[in-house]
Amino acid sequence: MIKVVVAGALGRMGQESCKAVLKAEGMELVGAVDTREIGSPLGIHLGIADLDVTISDNLEKTFQELKPDVVIDFTRPGVVQGNIELALTYGVRPVVGTTGMSSTEIQHFQEIAAGKQTGALIVPNFAIGALLMIKFAAEAAKYFPHVEIIELHHDQKMDAPSGTAIKTAEAITAVRGNMAQGMPSELEKIEGSRGGNYEGMRIHSVRLPGFVAHQEVILGGIGQTLTIRHDSISRESFMPGLLLAVRKVMSLQHLVYGLENLLFE
Ligand code: NAD
Repeated sequence: MIKVVVAGALGRMGQESCKAVLKAEGMELVGAVDTREIGSPLGIHLGIADLDVTISDNLEKTFQELKPDVVIDFTRPGVVQGNIELALTYGVRPVVGTTGMSSTEIQHFQEIAAGKQTGALIVPNFAIGALLMIKFAAEAAKYFPHVEIIELHHDQKMDAPSGTAIKTAEAITAVRGNMAQGMPSELEKIEGSRGGNYEGMRIHSVRLPGFVAHQEVILGGIGQTLTIRHDSISRESFMPGLLLAVRKVMSLQHLVYGLENLLFE
């Protein structure tokens, strides 16, 4: 049995993760950590009776007392960093879905995990369709290097652009390098109209109620455009990838950034 703790257990992704772990074969949900509803039974929040897990606000104590194999983190930027540090200190393998970390921070954790020979996963997007979108976009960029990314999320999202958009831009940049696009002398009449600039590629972030997680990669060529689009229409879309990550992290001895590195080996 893989013993799992969920950090951010009462959040949108945290609740979905708890339910997925409870249903998964070979996994046991042993703990749930959040800063809200401390001391209350997790079951009442999930609508599940007879669940022997209580919400704690102390991740360190949870690690010491329950000795989990894996901690799933869906908290928020600024919190996740301390949680990963703590997990690696206690030899608990972190499977991190929280986005918003810098590449320097990821590199820092890569060094710690390698030093401790502990498996760890940081995954900006657990939806397998989104990983395919990134793969196909990078392939298409060989022939269509002019690219813009539009990502669309619910309006409670804390970071922009999304981790998926950054991952996509990185994958495309690995293929085409830094490349200036559009008119060099273009005038932005409203600041930000052209979106964020990643190595010459523009990224636009839409935040509206009604969306879950969506992205379009538009590639432009002479007389044609190619659009690759992925839609997560419910948070269940992330669960098969998350459970795969929990299983895979058990046999890793270093940190892997992006589930695609385990899926498309
Ligand atoms: P949310 O706000 O619904 O949930 C966050 C939860 O973390 C809340 O319940 C909050 O109380 C809790 N929390 C805050 N500080 C905490 C702390 N110090 N310790 C423990 N818990 C704490 O957010 P969400 O929509 O569930 O998203 C969470 C993160 O997951 C975001 O960074 C989001 O971008 C990311 N996300 C990733 C994927 C993916 O596939 N990797 C998919 C969707 C969302």
